[in-house]
Amino acid sequence: MIRIALAGNPNSGKTTLFNILTGSTAHVGNWPGVTVDKREGTYRKKDVSAVITDLPGIYSLSPYTPEEVITRNYILEEKPDCVINIVDATNLERNLYLTTQLMEIDVPLVVALNMMDEVKRRGESIDADALAQKTGVPVVAISALKGEGIDKLIQCAVSQAQHPRKGTTVLKDGNLKHLIGDIRIALESLSVDNTLFHAIKLTELDELETSLHPQLVPMVEKFKATFEDDTFGNDFEAFIANARYSYIAENFARALKTSGKQTGLTRSDKIDRVFTNRWLGIPIFLAIMFAVFHITFSENFLFLKAFIPEDWESLSGTAFSGVFGAGAVNSPGVILQSLTGVFTDWLTDTVRGWLSTSPQWVSGLICDGIMAGIGSVLSFVPQILLLFMFFSILEDSGYMARVAFILDRIFRKFGLSGRAFMPMIMGFGCSIPAMINTRTLADEKERTATIRVIPFFSCGAKLPILTAVAGAIVSSFGVSNADVITFAMYLIGIVTAILTVILMRNTSMRGETPPFIMELPAYHLPQFKSLMIHLWDKLKHFIKKAFTIILASTIVVWAAMHFSFDWQYLTDEQINQSILAGLGQLTQPLFTPMGFGSQLGEYGWVFAVAAVSGLIAKENVISTFGTLAACLGAVIGEDPSGVQYVEQMITFTGATVAGLVAFIVFNMTTIPCFAAVASAKGELRKGTFHRTLLFWLVTSYTAATVVYLVLSWWWTVFIVAAVAAAAVWGIVVYNKKHPVRSI
Ligand code: GDP
Repeated sequence: MIRIALAGNPNSGKTTLFNILTGSTAHVGNWPGVTVDKREGTYRKKDVSAVITDLPGIYSLSPYTPEEVITRNYILEEKPDCVINIVDATNLERNLYLTTQLMEIDVPLVVALNMMDEVKRRGESIDADALAQKTGVPVVAISALKGEGIDKLIQCAVSQAQHPRKGTTVLKDGNLKHLIGDIRIALESLSVDNTLFHAIKLTELDELETSLHPQLVPMVEKFKATFEDDTFGNDFEAFIANARYSYIAENFARALKTSGKQTGLTRSDKIDRVFTNRWLGIPIFLAIMFAVFHITFSENFLFLKAFIPEDWESLSGTAFSGVFGAGAVNSPGVILQSLTGVFTDWLTDTVRGWLSTSPQWVSGLICDGIMAGIGSVLSFVPQILLLFMFFSILEDSGYMARVAFILDRIFRKFGLSGRAFMPMIMGFGCSIPAMINTRTLADEKERTATIRVIPFFSCGAKLPILTAVAGAIVSSFGVSNADVITFAMYLIGIVTAILTVILMRNTSMRGETPPFIMELPAYHLPQFKSLMIHLWDKLKHFIKKAFTIILASTIVVWAAMHFSFDWQYLTDEQINQSILAGLGQLTQPLFTPMGFGSQLGEYGWVFAVAAVSGLIAKENVISTFGTLAACLGAVIGEDPSGVQYVEQMITFTGATVAGLVAFIVFNMTTIPCFAAVASAKGELRKGTFHRTLLFWLVTSYTAATVVYLVLSWWWTVFIVAAVAAAAVWGIVVYNKKHPVRSI
């Protein structure tokens, strides 16, 4: 089978093309020794089959980032049969820079001119043939988004793979080219292949290359001593980079033709005038986010409550009662969630029926332990998927890049760059890829600070906690709306992140904020197929987790709840003598300042147990409630139905609104799940990692305590403000006395 590698700039559409080519065969691994994703899959159509490797997105083949080194080494050492260089046609000049370097390697090469749909939409056209003629490399116009030109591209790559290709360069004849020629001869005598590529890199005094062939460095140094260019002195790297750009500008300005239909501002520019406006940017961002939360979580959809009689309940008296609304209309997200609740209830009842003659502990373990635990988490999956669908749309349409841009403008003053916001925003999905993504941050301290705050951007696994507890607050206390609470909790997470980053960048993590140069991609409609692939990945991930780690945890929780320390089996009524209750009661006082510790009633330890079980996987918080509620429900002869696990907990323990909100805040900001802790460990130095764990604990403790205090006794806000002001004053004075040394 032939091996094809995809190489290109970030955002050139590599992932989109890769997904189209490989479909469901794709699998993700790691490049050896680093945590950059390695994605591989197979392309099969008619008689053609090929292994496709997606190389990390890069702007050049220099040795400065792990992505560049991986791509370069892969092509040079693994020698794929053909490289497809995917080029963003709407950004031709910048993208061709990488092409000019790939051309220098002795590997069959095809340029895939992507985003041609966008070029056409702008009323422009690109002459692919002229480009091919000039570069000597076949060029195929495609649109990965629309799936156009893909077969032709693969046919071209397969046919190119049959013929070896010698590298060519765009550097002009001249003194430098003589030097390159001399180095090639020397390399040939050392039996090195890819002499053109290596010779040019040696001329640039590229650090990977000079360590490979140190004996040839004096040749370059000697030449350097005699060379002087008006603009670049004898910096060959800059000289060569400039030569590449000049070549591109001279030759390919003509490949791009504008029909004249569209002049001035593009549609994206016009949208951006509003969306990235200095004053409107942030309010628009907040409004969009609120709309997303409203559609996903609200039980008072479109605020129709005022117009609906209070005793109204949809489909009352049926199994579906309240699914579409009770007292108000449910949002689409809540309807989906209620339907899943109806299904999991039905399933549990059916299984309970089957097991009616089996020993009590069997039906207890299966129905109250496993099914209640897993069911409580799975019932949130529809809402999680809906929220992710909105996040993916915002991301794929190009809007999230604007958010980083807007935030950069404000937070640069506080030592935080927009570049750091990208991984943070990724944290809404999952902290793990987000932490790995911080590798794009050059400044070590900015990177550490970013990794630390990523978990505050509430990930998918924390959503059940937010939704379940917010829902319980609304139904038990009749305050607010679930969407408002969930939205506010997300904002508290973001604000905590920003405040702690500012704090770190002004104390232990001081340093310069590098400039943020980012290209804003043109807005476009997200592609349905890639959206579905995204959601399917998320769903697979959740289901896999539900039947592995969450399943195991529910069994452990159930067992710890039904056995005493001397291994006696306990009935539901005796729960307070169980191992779980013992451990819970022991840790409970620690949570008292946050409002869900010793002040709670008889079963108050359940909150402590749930919070600690969340350290394994955040979904466990709710599955633990599910298991506990199923057992405790039996004590008072009430079966928890649907998703009212937390309501049950409130009835049992007497938790207050303030304590419940603090419980959410604590879980959102404390040490993340095991897997995220492991990635933080991989990304940070040892000492820094230990301090990071402490940082998470202290932050969550402080944030949850402040929330509890202020919500319980409003006047404590003055004390909190005074302490914060004193701290800020202390830091400002300290920093004045110890200014950061410029590097
Ligand atoms: P990668 O960073 O190179 O993997 O790029 P992605 O595949 O994530 O694509 C970046 C953005 O460009 C995404 O929002 C895609 O939907 C979009 N995109 C990819 N290919 C095309 C295309 O052919 N036309 C248009 N208009 N957009 C595209």
